[in-house]
Amino acid sequence: MAGMGLPPYDDGNIFARILRGEIASKKVYEDQWALAFHDINPLAPVHVLVIPKGKYVSFADFSANGSADEIAGFMRAVGKIAKDLGLEAQGYRLLANMGEHSGQEVPHFHMHLFAGRPLGRMLST
Ligand code: 5GP
Repeated sequence: MAGMGLPPYDDGNIFARILRGEIASKKVYEDQWALAFHDINPLAPVHVLVIPKGKYVSFADFSANGSADEIAGFMRAVGKIAKDLGLEAQGYRLLANMGEHSGQEVPHFHMHLFAGRPLGRMLST
């Protein structure tokens, strides 16, 4: 459920379609709470997207309206994926875009997982 100021969830968004299996993705991990797959336009040697299975448009929506189990399950999945991909030794970056200024393109909450090279400063500009 979206909160004040957030758009309603759009069941036709691209990640909803990936969750339903209508669009193919290169799956990395799946459990009760989360699905992870490779970004179609990778910006680093490792660029994985992790999405909750529930219908949340953004971090603002998920953090406010997700259940404690959903939030814990999702966060544990993100950590497990990074660990299982062998990324802990050299490190990685997590990023979530939320809303207009962030440039969020897909209105289903997702976390980007970047790794595989030094990632530079936190923001490009
Ligand atoms: P945002 O800008 O919303 O944070 O990031 C959306 C991401 O989804 C982008 O990095 C983009 O490359 C990725 N993306 C968009 N469409 C698809 C798709 O159909 N499949 C996959 N695997 N990634 C997608």
